[in-house]
Amino acid sequence: MKNLILIAAPGAGKGTLANDLKEKYHYVHISTGDLLREAATKGDELGKQIHEMQTKGMLVSDEIVVSALKNRLMDPSCDNGYILDGYPRTVKQAQMYDNLLKELNKDLGIVIVLDIEKELLIKRITGRRLCHGCDAIYNIYNPELTPKAPNTCDKCGGELYQRSDDNLESFETRYNTYLEKTQPLIDYYNNKGCLYRINSSSGSKETLKQVVELLNKLGDSIDKN
Ligand code: AMP
Repeated sequence: MKNLILIAAPGAGKGTLANDLKEKYHYVHISTGDLLREAATKGDELGKQIHEMQTKGMLVSDEIVVSALKNRLMDPSCDNGYILDGYPRTVKQAQMYDNLLKELNKDLGIVIVLDIEKELLIKRITGRRLCHGCDAIYNIYNPELTPKAPNTCDKCGGELYQRSDDNLESFETRYNTYLEKTQPLIDYYNNKGCLYRINSSSGSKETLKQVVELLNKLGDSIDKN
């Protein structure tokens, strides 16, 4: 399976799409936000620094992110195709990733951009709830994604929580960072001929359907490369 990179504004549905693709195709899902949140729970000096940057919605330093990503990519479970969610976030990170791929002898694969309007993102971010137990994603403002019992995961019964950066203030910072620093990646990957755009405004099912159609269409080139 070809490796996938998902690029989108916060709340556009990268995490939900990655979970859906993981279930359907058994991809490994690598979220740099999750890797960093895990490092933050250690509570040491580095963990505190990461937690502060994440809560404010600011980017963590490239060196910290790349080191966490490299460790993850070296795991043999990543050899059969992985989805990268939340990395790269800047052109500099994309260049660092190109070098990392060479070093680890891995392929870039394809890049999928999820397009969506800002108004929808605010609802998705402030309504998002996550499961402590199995990382399932819910949204209290979306009937398709509302948990059956309040604050409880339908899949594993785990308790749901809200991320510390899923508030309006952090959203504005994260959204502006996306426009300023992450969007230039669209040209970067377009020039490499590996970029595809999907509209994710209609919800997770429709987004998955479009991505599955795309992957089917690219089937040959996905397996051969
Ligand atoms: P996410 O879970 O992708 O929304 O990321 C949450 C937060 O983790 C971001 O707002 C950043 O503080 C940090 N983060 C995640 N990925 C990166 C990255 N590639 N570079 C820098 N910071 C990151």
